Amino acid sequence: MLANHTADILGSAYLAAEYVDSLIPPIPMQERVSSGWNYMLHSYTKFQIATYGSVFLHELVYVCVCLPFFLSQFTPFMKKYKIQQDEPETWEKQWKCLKMLALSHVFVQIPLICGAYHFTQFFGIPYDWESMPRWPYLVVQCYSCAVMDDTWFYFTHRLLHHKRIYKHIHKVHHEFSAPFGMQAEYAHPLETVVLGAGFLIGPMVFRSHLALLWIWLLFRLLETVDIHSGYNPPVNPMHIIPFYAGTLFHDFHHMNFEGNFSSCFTWWDKLFGTNLQYKDFQRRKAEQKDQ
Ligand SMILES: [Zn+2]
Ligand SMILES: [Zn+2]
Repeated sequence: MLANHTADILGSAYLAAEYVDSLIPPIPMQERVSSGWNYMLHSYTKFQIATYGSVFLHELVYVCVCLPFFLSQFTPFMKKYKIQQDEPETWEKQWKCLKMLALSHVFVQIPLICGAYHFTQFFGIPYDWESMPRWPYLVVQCYSCAVMDDTWFYFTHRLLHHKRIYKHIHKVHHEFSAPFGMQAEYAHPLETVVLGAGFLIGPMVFRSHLALLWIWLLFRLLETVDIHSGYNPPVNPMHIIPFYAGTLFHDFHHMNFEGNFSSCFTWWDKLFGTNLQYKDFQRRKAEQKDQ
């Protein structure tokens, strides 16, 4: 009797989920996207897709997102949106950053990304088009990945600021107190590994699809370059993300070396009061403007 009742409830829930699913509009150019995806699956091995595809995506997105912020320093229109007006970008800083980034990408980032295939195999993450969740589910999963990663980031980042640890690892990332886009991944190799581990929590929890791994990678790169950009233009598509912390929030962390330990959201800093210096700074700035 109880088993029948449970089966009825599950059956109704399944029908309701199917009905909601049928209401979801397809992604733009769904036919082309699906044939492109299937072409990729037939033309390359899973190892090639996960390894070379992920490395290519990471490098392409990083360069494409950094470029507009790099060009902002030569755009007079953008000058008024520079957050730390008295700390302009210099060739010396940017060249130093670029050299270190090249080494970091070749010897740390890319070798780590090359583990993508083994990661997907170990957690049984599918590649095929039929198993790919509909786009609203991917959006929700990607947002959830950001929430989990932000939690990991807050606590590990705070630990890296411990006075006994800071000078050995995290000091490298804080070399430039006025951040600029490409500085996002300028860090000690150990920091790249420790903070980067947070990236994998969401995909490990959902075990959803290779597409989630790539969408989440795209989002995380957009977010980290944006918060390090040093610019706060009035229109920023990243600000449509609910509860997004934004560039001002992390820029203050670099300027102040303390507080605002979160990356994407502000919840943990609010909860632990590590945003108080930032709030005070904002209040003083607002008072100066009013005078
Ligand atoms: Zn820090
Ligand atoms: Zn930073």
